[in-house]
Amino acid sequence: MVHIGLRCTKCKATYPKGTLYLCPKCQGILDVEYNYDKIVLSRKALEQSLDRTVWRYRDLLPCSKEAKEVSLGEGGTPLHKASRLTAILGTNVMLKDESRNPTGSFKDRAISVAVSWAIEQGAKRLVSASSGNAAASVAAYSAKAGLDCYLLFDSKSPPTKHLQPTVYGAKGLSVKNLFTGTPQDLSELLYTLSNRLDAYNIFCWALINPYTLEGNKTIAYEICEALNWSAPDAVVVPVGGGDNLVAEWKGFKEMLGMGLIDKLPKMVGVQSTKADPLVKAWKSGSETVAPIETPSSIASGINVPYTGDHTLKAIRESKGAAVAVDDEEILLAEKEIASLEGVWVEPSSASAVAAVPKLVESGIVSKDDVVVCVLTGSGLKDTDAARKFTPTVQKVNRDLEEIMRAFKRM
Ligand SMILES: [Zn+2]
Repeated sequence: MVHIGLRCTKCKATYPKGTLYLCPKCQGILDVEYNYDKIVLSRKALEQSLDRTVWRYRDLLPCSKEAKEVSLGEGGTPLHKASRLTAILGTNVMLKDESRNPTGSFKDRAISVAVSWAIEQGAKRLVSASSGNAAASVAAYSAKAGLDCYLLFDSKSPPTKHLQPTVYGAKGLSVKNLFTGTPQDLSELLYTLSNRLDAYNIFCWALINPYTLEGNKTIAYEICEALNWSAPDAVVVPVGGGDNLVAEWKGFKEMLGMGLIDKLPKMVGVQSTKADPLVKAWKSGSETVAPIETPSSIASGINVPYTGDHTLKAIRESKGAAVAVDDEEILLAEKEIASLEGVWVEPSSASAVAAVPKLVESGIVSKDDVVVCVLTGSGLKDTDAARKFTPTVQKVNRDLEEIMRAFKRM
């Protein structure tokens, strides 16, 4: 077997495959381990593979060879060269467009792998909590696999983010203050709920289910492949719980370890100034991320009170940075990405592009660098946010002169 077990990232204790939650000995985050000596992944074999989904990299995922994957065609998203944004942002920007996944966000990668793994573990029903994107993914992949799905939504997330999982047939509840308190409070709630419902806990955060990190590594693999087997100079990732950044860092390190690339990128985590636990910890030089009281950003996907300590560690290892941007800068970036590059993303995703001028100013990236911004989710997820910067469409009669006059005023 290639996936051999889990190892605590803090005390290095090892645990059997399938273990959930934190290290029982030291409360450290568990990491899914592989026997890399048994993985033979060549450029040639990958280049000849017709599978464009995350399952293209099956040897680097936890599921056994015999297990049937639950797939809706996740992964294989484009990496756009953003020449018009590059002209105004001061460095070479590329956009990894994760809105192209089946439910419109990067979470489909994580959930395709985690649901397939859960079924291999005998799961018959799933439970999770989410500010929106993970809920849609869990609901869609549950539908595909024929599993019952129980979800708690954050009451503050946009209405479409409650609608989408419900359309897929999930049993969902909007919960007030779902993400207030400490990560331990949430973990306790989900642990008890999963026991009471006899459901597998597929909450999308390494602190609760380490397997939900694995599918997201494939973003890094795809970036390296698209850049003709090289890593960019920096990868800018919106950060809520922090798994996406950590997973990508793991993916780049695996690619380097297997000799498929020859350098690692700087990892940059971005949050809103209104929900910035990671950035506060980064600035203070702390080893741990303390929760904040009341996150209030418009960027629902990263409007979190806490981020995992693993994110801080990955950023430091990569010699990257954590950056905060204002909600106004996020909305301006959303408008610019759409109107200059033809890609409409939700506010959380736009935060990555909003951070680029700050990275150039502070010298974290230079004008010749290649900077990949990971655009995590579709703009269709949060139409209310886009209305804040978009003019109302005028109504006119079906009259050529009136139509011409109206266009000339715009
Ligand atoms: Zn430990």
